Amino acid sequence: MATILVRYGEIALKGKNRGQFEQQLHRNLKGALHDLEASVTRHRGRFSVNCPDAVLHQITIRLGRIFGLTSFSPVYETVLDIEAIKEKAAGIVRDLPDSKNTFKVKARRSNKDFPYSSPELNRILGAHLLHSYPGLAVKIDDPSFTLEVEIGYHKAYLYLERISGPGGLPVGTCGRALLLLSGGIDSPAAGWLAMKRGLSVEAVHFHSFPFTSRHSLEKVVDLCRKLVLYGYKLPLHQVSVTKIQEALRKNCPDELGVILLRRMMLRLAERLCGQRKLQALVTGESLGQVASQTLESIDVISKATRMLILRPLIGFDKLEITGIAEKIDTYQTSILPFEDCCTLFVPGSPVTKPKLAVVERSEQNLDLEFLLDEAMKTLETQIIR
Ligand code: ATP
Ligand code: MG
Repeated sequence: MATILVRYGEIALKGKNRGQFEQQLHRNLKGALHDLEASVTRHRGRFSVNCPDAVLHQITIRLGRIFGLTSFSPVYETVLDIEAIKEKAAGIVRDLPDSKNTFKVKARRSNKDFPYSSPELNRILGAHLLHSYPGLAVKIDDPSFTLEVEIGYHKAYLYLERISGPGGLPVGTCGRALLLLSGGIDSPAAGWLAMKRGLSVEAVHFHSFPFTSRHSLEKVVDLCRKLVLYGYKLPLHQVSVTKIQEALRKNCPDELGVILLRRMMLRLAERLCGQRKLQALVTGESLGQVASQTLESIDVISKATRMLILRPLIGFDKLEITGIAEKIDTYQTSILPFEDCCTLFVPGSPVTKPKLAVVERSEQNLDLEFLLDEAMKTLETQIIR
């Protein structure tokens, strides 16, 4: 059996949020590992995961995706006894390659009932290792390995590495939001950043089936499968905007098409939020990227709803966004060349500085309520796990 010690951020954790944060993190850990033979135990200020050696690697990959974790370490455990700890330390070092010949010991005592302080432990264990292995030397700056020792309440943990966690806050501790998910590069990255700040996310995709293909729907499902690795459940809503696009084409100026369609998307998203009790919208907008993302366009589009709209990517460059997409493995899916509803009927020269009054006037040619009601009837939801 293997044990992994799991650490989480403590800085923002004072007061009554702490218990809620830890409970949610506990649920998220159990959820992420539920299909592996692992058990998760909560200690003071830590979690530990016990699992068969065979799944250790898989578990470290999954822990790397659980927001709220700062770091984790596969550990060797022993009883709270100085002789047992010395023996364990010597055993760990015996298995290291010869090139690991300088070291330091870094002990930490959470359990103050243990009779040796951290500096005493450093000294005792350091001396024991030097005595056991004459080839070793202590080096405080830049040693070839650091043996860390944590004295817990029931056991002592020894380890050689700290693997970085993804940071952030546990998904589900900061509220619920609806991600507007196109098939592009940006919106999955925006969703990931929203989850990183503790939002639990549902996604909505607007399509123009049958004008857009089955493939573009599958593409969005694939993107959700990547995103859900960072949370444990992701409801995906799909809504057809085909009828809306037809109405726009018939009744409104071409060059406003994209703006008007986006405003309809926001109205539909707002309705969905009402049904699903979601508190905010998340989009992949980034300032200045395309015609619909000038300050004027974003302003006119967002005035279609009174909901809070979060735009995690607003200040990111395309390169930075691409970097996130690669890291979360959505990039290759996003660049698949399937048409998006917005790439259909796109006018040659869309306006870049729309005027709200003009946009609202052309919406008077539409039966908004009817179009929205009809579109909502096409809603299909699937839960991605
Ligand atoms: P992305 O890379 O996410 O497609 P983009 O750079 O193509 O973004 P736009 O086409 O202006 O930018 O879209 C801005 C945002 O509007 C998207 O990031 C997404 O949040 C939302 N959006 C656009 N099209 C759709 C769609 N078909 N379904 C759901 N949301 C959409
Ligand atoms: Mg797009």
